[in-house]
Amino acid sequence: MACAVNGCKNLKRFKPKGVTFYRFPTGSLLNEWLRVLDKGSKWQWTNKLICSEHFSQNDLYTVARHIINYCY
Ligand SMILES: [Zn+2]
Repeated sequence: MACAVNGCKNLKRFKPKGVTFYRFPTGSLLNEWLRVLDKGSKWQWTNKLICSEHFSQNDLYTVARHIINYCY
């Protein structure tokens, strides 16, 4: 599964070093992610992942608090 961010080449199956993959969050954080990614509400996010390269340390902390499913 590939990172959902346009132009990002990270693939989960290649297990890139130091990169963690996250599922999309639920609730209000989901809308925020879709807005940041410039995706409409119809965009199919349920089977998508985003890799840790698109988060700052602070963001990761926020994500970690909100996210339900981690992907390792
Ligand atoms: Zn990525």
